[in-house]
Amino acid sequence: MNISNNSVVTFHYTLTNNDGTVLDSSEGREPFAYLQGGSMIVPGLESQMEGKAKGDKFTAVVAPAEGYGDFNKDLLQKVPLDRFGDQKVEAGMQFQAGEHSVVTVKEVTDSEVLVDGNHPLAGVTLNFAVEVIDVREATEEELSHGHVHGEGEHHH
Ligand code: ZN
Repeated sequence: MNISNNSVVTFHYTLTNNDGTVLDSSEGREPFAYLQGGSMIVPGLESQMEGKAKGDKFTAVVAPAEGYGDFNKDLLQKVPLDRFGDQKVEAGMQFQAGEHSVVTVKEVTDSEVLVDGNHPLAGVTLNFAVEVIDVREATEEELSHGHVHGEGEHHH
């Protein structure tokens, strides 16, 4: 069957940026499973999955706006260093800021910390090399839960 709304899709992927640097990959792991139409993967990848079938291999190029968003420089913020207390702060560290957002430390000076509230992949064109491993219809239980169940998995 071909991927359409409410398909359960299992796929392997390797994600690279435009320089060819690997950002993420399912290689060596279980393939990723998701529910088509459930907004569980970035919109630009979900739309390019539509109509594909088991065994298909393709590359989906996803612009930032359809991926993790455009880079927003308003989300760069300088925070006084003393706000971090005794914690050691270094570039590259990530902190929880509020319930759903994570900020990344860009730069640390004697008195200030430059933090970036953009998603680490904001502004990045995503190149997904995809191999579709399996496509099946979602069960009614999966549809009512809004997520995919593993083989033999039972819960309420
Ligand atoms: Zn469930």
